[in-house]
Amino acid sequence: MFEGLSGRLGDVLEKLRGKGSLSQDDVNEAMREVRVALLEADVALPVVKDFIAKVKTRAVGQEVIQSVTPGQMVIKIVHDALVEMLAGQVGTPDEGEADRDRTAEILNLNVTPPVPILMVGLQGSGKTTTSAKIALRLKTTQRKKVLMASLDVQRPAAQHQLAVLGEQTGVDTLPIIMGQKPVQIAKRAMDEGRKGGYDVVILDTAGRLAIDEELMVEVAEVRKVTNPAETLLVTDAMIGQDAVTVATEFNDRVGITGIVLTRVDGDARGGAALSMRAITGRPIKLMGVGEKMDALEDFQAERIAGRILGMGDVVSLVEKAARTIEMDEAEKIARRMEKGKFDLEDMLSQLKQVRRMGDIKGLLGLMPGVAKMKKQIEAANIDDSLIKRQEAIILSMTPRERRHPEIIKASRKKRIAAGSGTAVPEVNKLLKQHQQMGQMMKQMKKMGGMKGMAERMG
Ligand code: GDP
Repeated sequence: MFEGLSGRLGDVLEKLRGKGSLSQDDVNEAMREVRVALLEADVALPVVKDFIAKVKTRAVGQEVIQSVTPGQMVIKIVHDALVEMLAGQVGTPDEGEADRDRTAEILNLNVTPPVPILMVGLQGSGKTTTSAKIALRLKTTQRKKVLMASLDVQRPAAQHQLAVLGEQTGVDTLPIIMGQKPVQIAKRAMDEGRKGGYDVVILDTAGRLAIDEELMVEVAEVRKVTNPAETLLVTDAMIGQDAVTVATEFNDRVGITGIVLTRVDGDARGGAALSMRAITGRPIKLMGVGEKMDALEDFQAERIAGRILGMGDVVSLVEKAARTIEMDEAEKIARRMEKGKFDLEDMLSQLKQVRRMGDIKGLLGLMPGVAKMKKQIEAANIDDSLIKRQEAIILSMTPRERRHPEIIKASRKKRIAAGSGTAVPEVNKLLKQHQQMGQMMKQMKKMGGMKGMAERMG
């Protein structure tokens, strides 16, 4: 997500990099472009103004101009300001405790059980899915007994959908009684919660395609009768400028305690997250990163800010890699990459590792500088089956061909295609992609490699 911002800021900060000293004009120019980038990324204007003002004051106040490494300082200041703005009172985990379960800090569960959690938002925002994800998480990490209830009487299928997710996750759902009004269902759910000895009752309200009066009245009423410990606004990260209206309306009319951003795994721009956070003052607590029931993560301002800056999500990339990659092999490749060497043998090892790492597109999104190359990557249509074919192509080459791809001319291509059960155009495509990857490595090298980039993120 956030490539609109990251590409732009990437360009701006690139200019500042490597400069011996940074003038006031440089800061102003950088901030002008930061401003445009934020606006282009659908951040609401008042939020942008606020952000720029904050960063400018800070930049000048901290004497960036006299700093030894001005580029780094500006990146750090912009980065920190973004983190600050994105982070809620929930904050982000301290170093070294990334894996610690923070559910109890993120969600307020400190009221007499059953703890009501109210899910609100527009239709299709991911409310039902997120309800089930939260229920599953409370069940597995907090050992809570959870009851879910759908208050969506608009769409008959909605109540059924929640029941299906309940079965999938092993979480109880309130039996459906047709004809009941949302408030009645909510009361029944709380009664059932008390009688059944449940710790938490998750109430999934109906959504509409757009904000309307009836919806607001209905949700506010449900909130009044259930007095939830948490009222979570679920919004799609792709919502854009509408985020402001949606967040403002729900916060003013219903009152929310936090935001859950869904589809963070998609191509969303960053504006929504920034605007909603800034305008409501409510923390973004969790983020949905996929359709599967375990695809729910703590919202981590640091990581998102890193992505916004186009520095890549180095932290999660490293973590993900550490889990699955054979480190020795990876280091070997990294060393060769640093030297600007990257032959087809390396590409083969890398393809294997990438495949092991699972979701390829997700991973590419985490890599520094990739936001800019996103179009190219999409054009290359990278997916699992393609990777398997590519492996087959490289495996059909002789060791010499792998080390010296430049010797692969027409007749060799024909042989390789036949050997791998592919066609010559596919072989060509692979060779081209190898070249592109080589170029990407060079770019990364220019930026000082992964280590340099991590340092810059400070
Ligand atoms: P509701 O109308 O707000 O209850 O929305 P749903 O929960 O029915 O979600 C609508 C669609 O979005 C479903 O197909 C979900 O699988 C999908 N969805 C929800 N959250 C995420 C997410 O974080 N990532 C992705 N990729 N899809 C999601």
